[in-house]
Amino acid sequence: MDVLVINCGSSSLKYQLINSETESVLAAGACERIGISGGFLKHKASERDEVIIDVSMPDHEAAIKLVLKTLTDKENGVIASLKSIHAVGHRVVHGGEKFTSSVLITKEVIEEIESCNDLAPLHNPANLIGIKACAKALPGRPMVAVFDTAFHQTMPPEAYLYGLPHRYYVDYKIRRYGFHGTSHSYVSKKLCEAAGLSLDDSKLIVCHLGNGSSISAVLNGNSIDTSMGLTPLAGLIMGTRSGDIDPAIIEYIARKEGKTLEEVLSVLNKESGVLGMSELSSDFRDLEEAAENGNELAEQAVDAFCYQVVKYIGAYTAAMGGVDAIAFTAGLGENGCRVRQKIIQRLHYLGIELDDLANQFRGIPMRISTESSAVAVFVIPTNEELAIMRETVAIVGDHIEKPRTESF
Ligand code: ADP
Repeated sequence: MDVLVINCGSSSLKYQLINSETESVLAAGACERIGISGGFLKHKASERDEVIIDVSMPDHEAAIKLVLKTLTDKENGVIASLKSIHAVGHRVVHGGEKFTSSVLITKEVIEEIESCNDLAPLHNPANLIGIKACAKALPGRPMVAVFDTAFHQTMPPEAYLYGLPHRYYVDYKIRRYGFHGTSHSYVSKKLCEAAGLSLDDSKLIVCHLGNGSSISAVLNGNSIDTSMGLTPLAGLIMGTRSGDIDPAIIEYIARKEGKTLEEVLSVLNKESGVLGMSELSSDFRDLEEAAENGNELAEQAVDAFCYQVVKYIGAYTAAMGGVDAIAFTAGLGENGCRVRQKIIQRLHYLGIELDDLANQFRGIPMRISTESSAVAVFVIPTNEELAIMRETVAIVGDHIEKPRTESF
């Protein structure tokens, strides 16, 4: 069956059409600048060149219609009719405590996702718009919600509770949720296969390092701790996000610069991280180049990032009472050889030895620790779309005619 995977942001909509039997991507693309001027669709059909179509899209419904038209049209299409799309899998950022796994989307599920909007005001409303637009454009087609938070719902209270009055957890559900769960789940399974470990008897650390970064401790296949928190702002220093800071800094900056709470949070989300530290770029390629040319701030930013990764690996090794294997994934984890080297050379105390030659490769599955290393370290490319497709098929199953997402 062909499954349409949708990842909807506030002004963008990314998609992939994947065949579930062959797991091949028939087409992939993105609608950008939805609801604002200068909209365009980037579309890449398998074995054909990418096309860019300039077209304004007033809303997500228009964007979905355009995607479906492009997937079926004579020029760029890959399927004869929309009947070929058997199911839709949606990435949903925040499932709160309600969703511990992926679910078939029903009216009740939509309402429950809506009730999590407060927890992810930037993401969940956009995800819901995508769900509703697809329900209109593909009436009766089963749709599945796959949550970024679900994999981390196995964390114990000692890992997810903050040092705050208990009533905040009871009244507002303030706790650590963690994100990138689809990636952490997918990569941890792949890591076990690659390292020859059994998932239910393994201590893994997954380093998802991209523009947004998070690390998780996966014990016997279950996430027991992760670096992001109530929101994706927490944890590691990221491309533009601060990661963990002393919370009192927020009020201090607000007072010093006469900023509102929203303005300070915008600084923490968009102007901080390695971008803010280096005053140069959020992209590690730029920072490494600048550092090589003697830019001290760029070097400091990269070093601070690597130091934090080293600290998390130490903390999660302690949390699990050891570690069998470590994975590096996402844009930086898969491609950033120098960052990986800087991190791994500080893990000698765990008996980890880097294979320098293997570490030069980018973007492919690879063992980057030596055969004699006490802990296996791998680069494992993540594939969130493939994982969403698999989840969708697992829920919709062979009974494609039975479960149906109603129209909303
Ligand atoms: P997102 O969190 O937006 O999905 P990605 O996982 O795509 O981010 O990662 C993007 C980041 O990966 C870039 O900002 C850059 O820092 C890093 N990156 C990509 N390629 C390389 C490379 N060859 N060397 C170093 N860093 C890289």
